[in-house]
Amino acid sequence: MKVPLLDLKAQFAGIREEVVSAVTGVLESQVFNIGPFVKELERAVAAYSGCEAAVGVSSGTDAILAALMALGVGAGDEVITTPFTFFATAGCIARVGAKPVFADIQADTFNIDPARVEKAITPRTKAILPVHLYGQMADMDEILAVAGRHGLPVIEDAAQAIGATYTSRQAGSAGPRRAGSMGLMGCLSFYPTKNLGGIGDGGMVLTQDKGLAARLEVMRDHGQSPTYFYKFIGGNFRLDNIQAAALTVKMRHLPDWTARRQAHAALYDRLLAGCPGITTPAVRPGNTHIYHQYVIRTPRRAELQAFLKSHEIGSGVYYPLCLHEQECFRPLGCKKGDFPVAEKAAAEVLALPVYPELTEEQIAFVAGRVKGFVSGR
Ligand SMILES: *Cc1c(COP(=O)(O)O)cnc(C)c1O
Repeated sequence: MKVPLLDLKAQFAGIREEVVSAVTGVLESQVFNIGPFVKELERAVAAYSGCEAAVGVSSGTDAILAALMALGVGAGDEVITTPFTFFATAGCIARVGAKPVFADIQADTFNIDPARVEKAITPRTKAILPVHLYGQMADMDEILAVAGRHGLPVIEDAAQAIGATYTSRQAGSAGPRRAGSMGLMGCLSFYPTKNLGGIGDGGMVLTQDKGLAARLEVMRDHGQSPTYFYKFIGGNFRLDNIQAAALTVKMRHLPDWTARRQAHAALYDRLLAGCPGITTPAVRPGNTHIYHQYVIRTPRRAELQAFLKSHEIGSGVYYPLCLHEQECFRPLGCKKGDFPVAEKAAAEVLALPVYPELTEEQIAFVAGRVKGFVSGR
């Protein structure tokens, strides 16, 4: 039995007619930039995520970039984020001329530790940029409390977490809130391998602030308002209508796909429970995890990954080297040992296949091979 880490062809096989027909509609209309599907997708994703507004942009990276630009973050400023994330989170901070300041993570969820965020705040801090890694939201109560005490905006990197929920422990909490809806802005990615993936690049900025959404709409079109008059310096961050058409179709399937990922994760949890040397993902009380990745920990990662590969099972390492140790960030002056919790995670994490189209037999096979590795069989 072959089990790839991800099988997008299996997804396409189930939605081929719908996608082809929506994309053909765009070709017939010849409306390629901000068009009717972009508006429809913005409405659908905003409603799903519990947000007042959504602005479609060209990628998850550009969503983070546009969010930072909309806040006017620039040279001399600092933005606090996690060293254990995809490159773009910190790359965007550096690209606007600001300094990424890292705060270590929590070992169980892999998300930024709010206590360490507070310690990293300086008079130059302009924003806090938590990431909801693998599909579980960071501790937003604590992060928003820290941000509130220091008057700082929070931008959520929700690229991996569309639909994940967090229930506030605060008295009078209005119930579960979705990723991207709790900070001032939330950034989504529609990169093809994400839970809601396009047929190319795409992204979105979520917000509860309609004024800010209007600013982001101007920002994604070079800062132009009205045509050929520029209020401020933006960029070409427009979402293609053809991407939005495919994404609008896929959006209808997202709740079902998420439920399947969650069922797969529950099955892995059950099959791998008590397996020595293997730590299954922890979900904090009040959170729902959407399992963009199902990530186990093992001190014998390289061996396990090679063993799985020999049984035609795909797995992935997200991410093998923390951002503070990357060559491009050497000027920040960080070194190995600065963020030990993140560094240990980078050495131990391994993502197993969890995509919606997997069968129970495939999951049982993967779990069986993991157990076989541990028991030396
Ligand atoms: C995918 C991802 C991004 C960037 O999204 P793109 O659409 O690939 O530009 C940013 N942050 C995180 C955590 C991601 O996983």
